[in-house]
Amino acid sequence: MTSPSTKSAWWTDTTARSRFRRSLLKWFDRHQRQLPWRQQKSPYRIWVSEIMLQQTQVATVINYFERFIKRFPNVRALAAAELQEVLKYWEGLGYYRRARQLHAAARMVVDQHGGRFPQTFDEVIALPGIGRYTAGAILSIAQDQRYPILEGNTERVFARLIQLGDDPKSKPGQHKLWELADKLVSRHRPGDVNQALMEIGSQLCHVNHPDCGECPVRRFCESFQSGRANELPRRSVAKTKYESVREAAIIIRRGDRVVLRHCQPGQRWADLWDFPRFAVPTSGHGQFLCKRVRQLTGLSVRLGPPVKQIRHAVTRFRITLDCYHATDVRGRLNNGSPDGIQWTRLNELGQRPLNVTGRKIANWILSQ
Ligand code: SF4
Repeated sequence: MTSPSTKSAWWTDTTARSRFRRSLLKWFDRHQRQLPWRQQKSPYRIWVSEIMLQQTQVATVINYFERFIKRFPNVRALAAAELQEVLKYWEGLGYYRRARQLHAAARMVVDQHGGRFPQTFDEVIALPGIGRYTAGAILSIAQDQRYPILEGNTERVFARLIQLGDDPKSKPGQHKLWELADKLVSRHRPGDVNQALMEIGSQLCHVNHPDCGECPVRRFCESFQSGRANELPRRSVAKTKYESVREAAIIIRRGDRVVLRHCQPGQRWADLWDFPRFAVPTSGHGQFLCKRVRQLTGLSVRLGPPVKQIRHAVTRFRITLDCYHATDVRGRLNNGSPDGIQWTRLNELGQRPLNVTGRKIANWILSQ
């Protein structure tokens, strides 16, 4: 196996790197997808798109991006908005920490940089939610600064280009790949070089069965030359162990109002809203749940059998969520409790940022 520091490797040669970039850019100019964040070289738009694209597919992001930019067209508009509204526009995209950090960073850009997106790497990476990859992507794509990038797609392309022997996620693997990324990006069109490499990763260099026949850089690719493209990159063998859990959500309704819980910092779905929800023991749910409802809300209720079941996943947990309708609701709600419990009118459910299961339950209630 070779590494980026091996003397005979092609990427150590300036002329070979220029040829590589020429082939790459020629292909990119013809085949790049028309994506909404590519229409203008605005740091704000590139930043929002890069944050949305973390952990999320392009096809899902497009609609969210367009709605978000329409409502928050620039950093000042985002900074001036309430977090609850920003979360509402993020609802369903998941990984809500990204939205909280984007909002906090927008306020920093306004407070500390006069509303102008910073232009140095150190200033950009100091913003919440921005790491080495995102800083490099924004500065290279929006401002033509020569910074490399390394993310899921380019990791795979680079590992195959050099037949990386290490696990790409390992420290030595990451070191070699960043070194290669740094060599391949140029002063001329650095953002396009980075985007072209990502585009090859997503459009041709698939995890399984890469489309090497169409790849503009196959003559530089050691895995293609050796027929090992499908075997690489080496994948870590550690498999996620999933755990099944059972939870219950309680619909407590009086007339046109239902009880919602504002998820607190440090809890799952912090700052979003959900229905009162509890982990349940393996047996004896009924009495246990009534007691938990009383502790949380101050209300005494009766519960019949579940009216709805939702299965979903959160990190390594596979959750079966049984939804119960509370009847015979008595007492006064612990309004203003630290658990953020509140009566909410049904016609306000649409404006509240809810987690995914909360939204499903709300839609179910409204459809009854
Ligand atoms: Fe990936 Fe094949 Fe292109 Fe190599 S030749 S970068 S393996 S698509």
